[in-house]
Amino acid sequence: MRIEIYLRRAAARFFRKIAGVCALFLALPLLALAAPAIQCAPGVELRLSAPLSTQGSLLLVEVRSAKPLAELQGEWGGRAVSFWREDGPRDLRRALLGVDLEKPAGAYALTLTAQTQRGAAVSCRALVRVRAGRFATERLTVQKQFVEPSPEELQRAQEERQRLREIFDQVTPERLWRGGFRVPLDGVATGGNFGRRRILNGHPGSPHSGVDFPAAAGTPVHAAQRGRVVLAEPLFFSGNTVVVDHGLGIYTFYGHLESLAVKAGDVVEAGALLGQVGATGRVTGPHLHWGLTVSRARVDALQIVKLLGKK
Ligand SMILES: [Zn+2]
Repeated sequence: MRIEIYLRRAAARFFRKIAGVCALFLALPLLALAAPAIQCAPGVELRLSAPLSTQGSLLLVEVRSAKPLAELQGEWGGRAVSFWREDGPRDLRRALLGVDLEKPAGAYALTLTAQTQRGAAVSCRALVRVRAGRFATERLTVQKQFVEPSPEELQRAQEERQRLREIFDQVTPERLWRGGFRVPLDGVATGGNFGRRRILNGHPGSPHSGVDFPAAAGTPVHAAQRGRVVLAEPLFFSGNTVVVDHGLGIYTFYGHLESLAVKAGDVVEAGALLGQVGATGRVTGPHLHWGLTVSRARVDALQIVKLLGKK
């Protein structure tokens, strides 16, 4: 009897020990996954707003330096990362990393090179992991002409896509926005459909790169932040469209407007009226399609409100 109790206790001790080891063993690779591998020169600190990213998301990068920096350059996934300097006594630089909604999952190196005002070179390196996003698939029925456009319409749509690509490729070197970004509709905090894979009249289309806000036609649409209007005209798919350049490779896109209140070249302040909600272009009803492009990456626009929202 006594031996049996002893054996039972010994077995319990053994399993507790094993469980401890197993938990540790399991935790180590998990910790390695969660913590971004960051290596920086002494005196420089690099922080990311999240240890992992997902397709279609934004990351805020912060670089603090004990010694004032004269310049800072970054590169991630083959694209330049544009930093801006925050006002304050310490040298704090920020940048946004946009993870395109179709960027393949994997680990991508973020490299920073900087020079202090005294001419010393400093550098940082971090591995930023991208996970696959979970996006719903939706089936839509729209007017036949938008799924099976005529050769002329197809050519127009292709030319417009190419024009937009060229716009998003431009990086205005200065920061045009000031302060937090807002949702373009008053009293609205959230929208839907970002990243949805769409099947239009039975044909798979490209993923939905914006956030949709259903609203009554005529509802005012406001600029998310200060910037320069680089496009304000009707496009085949997105109807009456406005694109605002906020500088540093950051653009917001407003589609399906009923009417336009701005023209290309206008400098608009945060909250300026851009137009009214409508149902122009390829739509199933009146709504605002709001897009955000950061260094050409199509990301969830609501994330810029969260990361650089009102302070
Ligand atoms: Zn949309």
